[in-house]
Amino acid sequence: MTGFDCRWCGAPAPRPVLDLGEQPPCDRFPPVVDGGPDPCWPLRMGWCRECGLAQLLEDPGIPEQARGVEPAVLVQQAEEAVSLVAAEGWLPDRGGFLEFGSPHGGSWSLLLTHRGLTPTAPGSASDLVLDCFGMMHHPDQAAALRRRVGVLAEDGVLLVQFHSLAAILRADQWNALRHGHFAYYSTPALVSMLGELGVVARRAWRFDLYGGTVLLACTRRGTPDDSVRALLAEEAALGVGDPERLRALQEGVTRDAGSLRSWLAEGRALGRRVVGYGAGSRAVPLLCAAGIGPDLLPFVADASASKDGRRFPGSRVPIVSPSRLRSRRPDVVLVFLPELLPEARAALPWVEESGGRWVGVDRLPPWLPRQREGTRVAEVTRAGRNG
Ligand SMILES: [Zn+2]
Repeated sequence: MTGFDCRWCGAPAPRPVLDLGEQPPCDRFPPVVDGGPDPCWPLRMGWCRECGLAQLLEDPGIPEQARGVEPAVLVQQAEEAVSLVAAEGWLPDRGGFLEFGSPHGGSWSLLLTHRGLTPTAPGSASDLVLDCFGMMHHPDQAAALRRRVGVLAEDGVLLVQFHSLAAILRADQWNALRHGHFAYYSTPALVSMLGELGVVARRAWRFDLYGGTVLLACTRRGTPDDSVRALLAEEAALGVGDPERLRALQEGVTRDAGSLRSWLAEGRALGRRVVGYGAGSRAVPLLCAAGIGPDLLPFVADASASKDGRRFPGSRVPIVSPSRLRSRRPDVVLVFLPELLPEARAALPWVEESGGRWVGVDRLPPWLPRQREGTRVAEVTRAGRNG
């Protein structure tokens, strides 16, 4: 028993499939002078056997903070998606649209306005209803989807974009689980949710964003095309509807947290100076799950001025400006957002000039005798994790 009802179908007790223990909200970085303790809440994913929706079990009720700056990758994806959707005739030529926004950014509003659509008032019927990463932020999934379908005009198009549960499984993205993200949609689960409200997913597009993002075009009539059918079959084969497959995410937590902790401990025993780079929210559950504090990682450098002088919640690792790397002369800079590695390396060449190495957290190399280390170069391939 979990004591919770499914956020979509109301069936009792979605089964826990992933448990990250007690975690602080991952987007709140307290000032470094705030000694804590930080409030923490259980962070667990459950899976409903009735409707197949993977969902957040507990939540502290603190809304996700809106991004100050829209990530360029989201802006680019929005442009690409609007072009694709328009080119295939899924965008109404004129009429009203309603966008359900997201704290992640990446609004389509301006793009749609440029194509001749006009915003409709909330509550009135819209020829185009759009939701990009918005709906997952709602605790009551049934109410949220009903609201979107409810404002869709009879011949309107509903566009829903989501980070797919299949991508989370495929790349072991266990740290996609976070407070404030209430639903983790597979295509089969979302298509059947839409179906219950009389809406048909007709066309599906896939994007690399977050390691796997799906956009569905839906209408009140019609049938799914091959792109939808193929995606349904592919995700089912991957195991999005299999709780045992979902539980494999837990092994990823144990593996990633354990290997990071022992790697840092070994480095410290060898006298190596290791510091971090990239204070992203997805590093928060990793540091907490691994039980890492300033004793193993004295600081994490981050280019965002708004994080300078703050610290990680839970683990209390301080966050500093990248200039601190110079005086520290680290042996290794551990990059928590591996997709940042190329640009960080280019921006801070003196790390390597003074004998340091860049290492992606997803590719921890073995510790070698000191004289050989300068000959190795860290490679990073896995990227695109959420958040
Ligand atoms: Zn359910």
